[in-house]
Amino acid sequence: MIRISKLAASVQPSATLAAGAKARQLRAAGVKVYDFSLGEPDFDTPKHICEAAEKAALGGQTHYTPTSGTAEVKAAVVRWYKKVHGYEFGPENVIVSNGAKHSIHNALAATVGPGDEVIIPTPYWVSYSDLVSMTGAAPVLVTTTPESGFKMTPHQLSAAVTPRTRVLMLNSPCNPTGTVYTRAELEALVDVVLGTDVAVLSDEIYEQLTYGDAKPTCVATLRPALKDRIITISGASKSYAMTGWRMGWAIAPPALVKAMDTIQSQETSCPSSVSQAALIAALDGPQECVSEMRTEFAARRELTVTRLRDIPGVRLPTPDGAFYAFFDVSAYFGKTFGDKPVTDSLSFCSALLEQAHVNLVPGVAFGAEGFVRMSFATSREVIETGIARLKAWLALGT
Ligand SMILES: *Cc1c(COP(=O)(O)O)cnc(C)c1O
Repeated sequence: MIRISKLAASVQPSATLAAGAKARQLRAAGVKVYDFSLGEPDFDTPKHICEAAEKAALGGQTHYTPTSGTAEVKAAVVRWYKKVHGYEFGPENVIVSNGAKHSIHNALAATVGPGDEVIIPTPYWVSYSDLVSMTGAAPVLVTTTPESGFKMTPHQLSAAVTPRTRVLMLNSPCNPTGTVYTRAELEALVDVVLGTDVAVLSDEIYEQLTYGDAKPTCVATLRPALKDRIITISGASKSYAMTGWRMGWAIAPPALVKAMDTIQSQETSCPSSVSQAALIAALDGPQECVSEMRTEFAARRELTVTRLRDIPGVRLPTPDGAFYAFFDVSAYFGKTFGDKPVTDSLSFCSALLEQAHVNLVPGVAFGAEGFVRMSFATSREVIETGIARLKAWLALGT
């Protein structure tokens, strides 16, 4: 019998991908599933981006590129940050990876290991704690609640810092809560770690998806003293509907970029050449596609929040960014649906999927038992019908 390594055994499969697989199974059996589980835009990649990739492939850009990305793609990232955030840095600060998740992995692998602690505000994106655990470091979870809009306070942060803390992970706009911190709130958090040697890893992948008055903040632009310790992570997956292209990046001090480059060289050699050409077109090209998608997401957010608040026992803070509603369903725990007792977020989601064919992701996957995540990156029709089915199903609990 082949032995499975400690590393493999320490990793949990991604709960969102698992939920998606279960729904696919039902669908294959001919069932219409109202699927709110997947964390990706339902739009196809804009045409001008696909055309740039086609042109690159036909033009011979089919070879290995430099490990951290071509000079052209780095220049496009540099231009984009200067234009959008007024954040200035050089190509030596940029590494392009196979998705933002890959950049986060490389950044953690290059900064932490056994004996180190990484602070993660909770609810957190499914992969954070596993990505930290894979390095041997310990995730330190700081619990936030709907009452505070799922925001970590400076007091909570400072109580979590120990001599072993090496990295603070931030994610605003947040997956799964949709929380967007204000600039002042982020300044107050960053100020807690300024007097220490803790680095900040800021995952800003939803920066182009905020609604109403909420504004994204590029954490790297907050305090000059942070310059040597800030890792900005972002990517094309969410803003440009490019999940399958696997384009993400990190902006970090040159010494760290070099360490990540070395790790990446032994993992994947380089990111996809064709995808890099597509990323240049996304960042440099017309941005109307982004505002069109944002406008549609904003309308779906209104619909989702209004309909959910109409269900007895469901309360949720308004998500100001990303495309998820994260809400408390613990009022329904202890009830029985059909012959299924519902006791936690996992049994809640599996009974709901089996009986009403509505697919949500259990909060426990995000470190928040009692909650569920509903993605509104799906059509208004699916949102209308799916939430109506959820509401009708909830009324059946005894
Ligand atoms: C989707 C997502 C990512 C990863 O995106 P990639 O497709 O790997 O670029 C990273 N962070 C958060 C919070 C996400 O939701």
